[in-house]
Amino acid sequence: MSIFPKIYTECPDCGCKETLLQIALDEAKEGGKVSKDIILDSIDKKEATPLKPISPQLIGICMVPMLVEHYNVCANCGRRRLTKAEIKDMAFQVGPQVRI
Ligand SMILES: [Zn+2]
Repeated sequence: MSIFPKIYTECPDCGCKETLLQIALDEAKEGGKVSKDIILDSIDKKEATPLKPISPQLIGICMVPMLVEHYNVCANCGRRRLTKAEIKDMAFQVGPQVRI
């Protein structure tokens, strides 16, 4: 059975559950600056690693399963920490510039 998606709820250093981005997002929602529909997952920092080698000969966009790691900053101590890891099929652009 897959461990994904895996959620890391607490800062390993201080045990705080809140993140700066979540607090900022909540404040922006309360202030009416952004839509209440926006979820943290859609805006937080992510690092995606393809789960297979990408051939350099391939040019174009292909769908590749990726490990996506979400990073947020602890609201208490400022540590950048992993908050979520998931597997997602994502479009991968291959060519002179590799972008996600
Ligand atoms: Zn912390």
